[in-house]
Amino acid sequence: MTATVIDGKAFAAKVRNQVGAHVARLKEDHGITPGLAVVLVGEDPASEVYVRSKGKMTVEVGMASFTHRLDADTSEADLLALVDQLNNDPNVHGILVQLPLPDHLDSDLVINSIDPAKDVDGFHISNVGLLGTGQKSMVPCTPLGCLMMLRDHHGSLSGMNAVVVGRSNIVGKPMAQLLLGDSCTVTIAHSRTRDLAAVVRQADIVVAAVGRPEMVPGDWIKPGATVIDVGINRIDKPEGGTRLVGDVAYESCAAVAGAITPVPGGVGPMTIACLLANTVTACCRAHGLAEPDGLTA
Ligand code: NDP
Repeated sequence: MTATVIDGKAFAAKVRNQVGAHVARLKEDHGITPGLAVVLVGEDPASEVYVRSKGKMTVEVGMASFTHRLDADTSEADLLALVDQLNNDPNVHGILVQLPLPDHLDSDLVINSIDPAKDVDGFHISNVGLLGTGQKSMVPCTPLGCLMMLRDHHGSLSGMNAVVVGRSNIVGKPMAQLLLGDSCTVTIAHSRTRDLAAVVRQADIVVAAVGRPEMVPGDWIKPGATVIDVGINRIDKPEGGTRLVGDVAYESCAAVAGAITPVPGGVGPMTIACLLANTVTACCRAHGLAEPDGLTA
């Protein structure tokens, strides 16, 4: 079997178009422009790239983009004061504090100081609790993007066996909650899981979010399963230079799976698209207006 490639890049473009159309309607019918504020502390080069690309895409869909760059030695009090200001700014509907923060700042404290209604990353403890209890929440962008691709490919996920490899707060755990919400039978595997290969072989859906290059080989995949590769790892090429690979061994998994997301061009583009989707959703909720269809869990 050769797997269907789930084209995250094309799907993300579709989501961004849908967001853009909704933004245009909000402006035209209600005079409202959704706004996303991104806060970057310090000069981590990877974070710099993400923040720039988030700002660019925010503007491309017609939303207002506010980027706040703070020095690496910014005090916690100053950062909390900025978050408070953004919480109270009616032009800001979404707030994202780019992680990781420098070591002297308490990430949990900062994230939990964001107004949960503006927490477009979905990391605030209130949103985690709402998601865990099946209530309306802001959903973390990466797992939301994975869910959208799975729903698009399968229609209903009800009754499917899903194995999520990785139990981080930003990917693994919310992914598992979302799959449970769609009535999958969910297993969360991690570094202490015994016989991971046998666990993964049970899965109709495998979501790999481990951070280990090409860790999942094709012979762990049940024939016909759907493989969602969240991993982004940069490895050296034998001929020199580097390339991006996921957490699954693409060639061998694609030979067995029914469908698979590539790296790059799979989950990555969906993450930013879902950030934009969450911002427009937050804006609609703030104004008591109808949310766009299909852009939330
Ligand atoms: P974390 O490092 O926070 O979590 C990794 C998880 O993998 C942990 O739960 C860990 O288990 C588990 N793990 C590590 N080694 C093994 C192993 N040998 N067998 C089984 N499980 C293992 O990573 P993140 O969740 O933040 O990210 C995971 C990957 O996804 C990374 O490559 C990251 O770059 C990528 N990513 C991609 C995004 C995108 O937009 N595409 C967004 C976010 C992340 P334990 O808890 O036991 O230590």
